[in-house]
Amino acid sequence: MTRNMICIGCPMGCELTVEVENGAAVSVTGNTCGIGKKYAETEVSAPTRMVTSTVKSDSGVPVPVKTAAPVPKEKIFDVMKDIKAATVKLPVRIGDTAVENAAGTGISVIVTKNCETA
Ligand code: SF4
Repeated sequence: MTRNMICIGCPMGCELTVEVENGAAVSVTGNTCGIGKKYAETEVSAPTRMVTSTVKSDSGVPVPVKTAAPVPKEKIFDVMKDIKAATVKLPVRIGDTAVENAAGTGISVIVTKNCETA
């Protein structure tokens, strides 16, 4: 089976063609660099995404957050539910944990901006 996809590794957006056998990539073409090859291989076997959002704070100011690593695509909805349910106490610093073990993935959601108390 052949799958076509756009690499999301950088703004160049290379058009990738992936030959897939038994759920794994056996060849990748169209990529300009190794990131595209890795992206295509992961995308056909176990697709993942970084999740970015905001979490509530005790002062009402929304705090920007992201997952510390890409999460399995099928877990994104559950990760967002955990983010929506969370509240952080200000002040927070970049890298502070907002949600531990989001949706049981073993991946934390971390703060991406320093926020002081209002
Ligand atoms: S293959 Fe490399 S150059 Fe092309 S979009 Fe992906 S990261 Fe960018």
